[in-house]
Amino acid sequence: MSETHQPADDGSGDDEFEPVQVFPEAEEMDLRPGADDCYKCSTCDTNCPVAEVDDEFPGPKFQGPEQWRLKRQDDHDIDDSVMKCSNCMRCDNACPSEVPLSQMHNTARGEYVEENMSKLSREYWRNRLLSNYGTMARIGSKVPRLTNFVMGLTVTQVVNEKLLGITGERTFPAFATETFREWWEKRGGAAASRENAREARTRRDDSSADERKRVAYFHGCYSNYNTPEVGKAMVEVFEHFGYEVVVPDQRCSGTPMYANGMLDDAERAAETNVDELGSAIEAGADVIASCTSCSMSLRQEYPELFDFEDTESVAEHTWEALEYLRVHEDLEDELADASVDSADVAYHTPCHARNQGLDGQTVELLSSIDGIDAHDVGDSCSGISGTYGWKEEHYETSMKIGEEMFEHMEQIDAEAGMTECPTCAMQMEHGTGYEIDHPLEILSAALVDGPEAGGGDAA
Ligand code: SF4
Ligand code: SF4
Repeated sequence: MSETHQPADDGSGDDEFEPVQVFPEAEEMDLRPGADDCYKCSTCDTNCPVAEVDDEFPGPKFQGPEQWRLKRQDDHDIDDSVMKCSNCMRCDNACPSEVPLSQMHNTARGEYVEENMSKLSREYWRNRLLSNYGTMARIGSKVPRLTNFVMGLTVTQVVNEKLLGITGERTFPAFATETFREWWEKRGGAAASRENAREARTRRDDSSADERKRVAYFHGCYSNYNTPEVGKAMVEVFEHFGYEVVVPDQRCSGTPMYANGMLDDAERAAETNVDELGSAIEAGADVIASCTSCSMSLRQEYPELFDFEDTESVAEHTWEALEYLRVHEDLEDELADASVDSADVAYHTPCHARNQGLDGQTVELLSSIDGIDAHDVGDSCSGISGTYGWKEEHYETSMKIGEEMFEHMEQIDAEAGMTECPTCAMQMEHGTGYEIDHPLEILSAALVDGPEAGGGDAA
């Protein structure tokens, strides 16, 4: 958060500054420096995937610095086009002047929802439901087979579209019959992991590292309720390297909540996460996320939007899973003898991974595994952006944005698709029919199942 301030109009002519609050949602926040740093080059606009396919969307420059200035001049309402921003955050990455565009958008969207959106409207309740997916999933996963059956009915899709404005074009992701956390507890929780890690360190002759090899897994909602195989792979891979894994209590990272302007919901979830993860860090752990939007949220959005006691510490100690292993382990050496059943995979880098500087790492890593031919499908946005592509009014835009990625995937003729983001995975599968895996699953197949076991099943 910036600390630059606005000149005080006291007539003295000296350079005293006072902070200016424009968006009241963020009481501690002064976004003026961001607005002042914008020199209107429009690079953000030309990198915005929504503006590229929707001529009516004014683009990130308007949503951020220009709207800020308008707000300052008079009591201007936030423009409703802020709800068309998908929160892909590509504009953050594109801006040569480091204007905090997504912070401005999140703050403006929060104000728009608070001040201008009717709390009785269908849009409000639909957005509230979508952005609180974790709560819905907790209830639905109590009876996963029944929920999957009901959510898969055509009549449910029709009712959801007509009543709530949730597109009927997509199929709801199935809930797993056993959540990651249920598997984790059944397996013996942190005590079993400590023992597995100790055995791995002995096998690796790595006993000197006993005290520091500890990670706290932030699994997020999707790996817990829908794809526990990703969480299991994460645990197995980290234990293979001798890390003791702990799984703190946690709530949604907040990403779908910012994207829908539900900042109060996001703040409540963030408070729990910061408290729990902060305690794990105190106990010597680093925080690992398998979803790149979750790591993005903990690292960037928490310090931009919230000010809990351990916010900065959580941001500083959070890593994406592969990034952590690349920095802390000799992965190249480890993978030198690893192999899996041969497979061509079409890999998509999520926008939020690019924002963390992680583009390139997965293809490089996968390419070092014997048997894998990893093809990067280019730098386009998948288009779904979490809840965005689930909204009836944004479905077509979402699919238009995804077209480039679909075309590249189809040209590759791969056996499977691959990405770290669960909603990008939904879009990849929806647009091409490919089955989509997480890179941790390949890593687990290569390091844990193989090569002694004859190589894992890659795809
Ligand atoms: S890229 Fe940055 S400096 Fe250029 S118009 Fe956008 S916000 Fe302003
Ligand atoms: S976050 Fe994405 S959709 Fe929103 S303005 Fe920026 S580039 Fe466009």
